[in-house]
Amino acid sequence: MKPIGADERTTAQEGSAHSDEQARPLVLELRKVTCAYEVGRAAISDVSFSVREGEILCLLGPSGCGKTTTLRVIAGFEPVVGGEVYLKGQLVSAPGVLLPTERRRVGMVFQEYALFPHLRVSENIAFGLRDLPSVLRETQVHAMLAMTGLTGLERRYPHELSGGQQQRVALARALVQKPVVLLLDEPFSNLDPDMTRKMREDVHDLLRRTKTTAILVTHDHEEAFAMADRVAVLNNGCLEQFDTPETIYHTPSTPFVADFVGQADFIPGTIANGKVLTEIGEFPNQGGYQGGASVVVMVRPDDIHILPVEHSGARILARQFRGSENLYTISLPSGRVVHSSETSTSVFPVGAPVELQIVATHTVLFERKQTQELGA
Ligand code: ADP
Ligand code: MG
Repeated sequence: MKPIGADERTTAQEGSAHSDEQARPLVLELRKVTCAYEVGRAAISDVSFSVREGEILCLLGPSGCGKTTTLRVIAGFEPVVGGEVYLKGQLVSAPGVLLPTERRRVGMVFQEYALFPHLRVSENIAFGLRDLPSVLRETQVHAMLAMTGLTGLERRYPHELSGGQQQRVALARALVQKPVVLLLDEPFSNLDPDMTRKMREDVHDLLRRTKTTAILVTHDHEEAFAMADRVAVLNNGCLEQFDTPETIYHTPSTPFVADFVGQADFIPGTIANGKVLTEIGEFPNQGGYQGGASVVVMVRPDDIHILPVEHSGARILARQFRGSENLYTISLPSGRVVHSSETSTSVFPVGAPVELQIVATHTVLFERKQTQELGA
């Protein structure tokens, strides 16, 4: 049970921060923003992140963590009690400062689409362009209909459309106004799962083609990983991590993030001779912890492989077939449970004794007390 290659740092995220992305101007910046609906009870606290031109940022976190509040602050619906919000370099929110929504040029798409029921598709899309001469307005609406795959449906009313089509109209209506930043609040949550997958791809493609800067709110880490250039993870009104999807998954900065974005096991260990000693082997002491310190090592199922053997204290407790993989639950001699991901054709019987091979490209260590709230 020895970690293999545990000290090789070959992480994907190191290559993903292209220098041209860094050079793009900031469109939006939140600096230590605090917003409270009731005095003394902050819905979000000290939240800081920024979005560059053309970037897709996902705000990810469980229900009630403050995602919608963050969007409402950016849109100018809620005042802030602390910190500042800058849109294209202009201060738009601070205590005592609140630039009205209509002067922010922020586009919005919500879960319930909020289309005008008495207006046809083309009229819904044209709604925000009332001030344009009619020829120009029609040209832009036509271009947007084509871009969003709605051509042919322009004379329908919202109730004559499917959920996915209504969603496209809501997107078209927001995009036709060329917003500085487009805010999408759980836009796929009313669609059935098949439709969600297709819409994620289509919306991602549309945002890229129109070079739209966007913030998408979701509680689904798979959606965030699939859509985002960078992900901001919120927990209880606080920003826990702001990074690329790869960094968030492989190098979570807190146990909460580790657990929220995928299956994670936390193995207790002790520092001795510059290594972390655990029940499943030794790991490098990458956190530079002092000898004798109590730590936990986070391992993902893709870091643990199993090999059936004749005798071992570790056994297969369960196998979950997931199509592209088999997820095994393994009980260790101590009674602790870990998970292993094997290929979809690697089928071993429940109860079989197994040897563990740890193939971790890097080690994530936390102090043991940090993980206690997760029950690890
Ligand atoms: P999320 O979108 O992540 O589910 P919200 O931003 O809606 O979370 O809510 C964050 C917190 O603020 C929650 O505790 C919620 O109960 C509270 N909250 C949201 N809207 C209001 C409101 N209008 N009045 C009072 N509290 C609110
Ligand atoms: Mg919400």
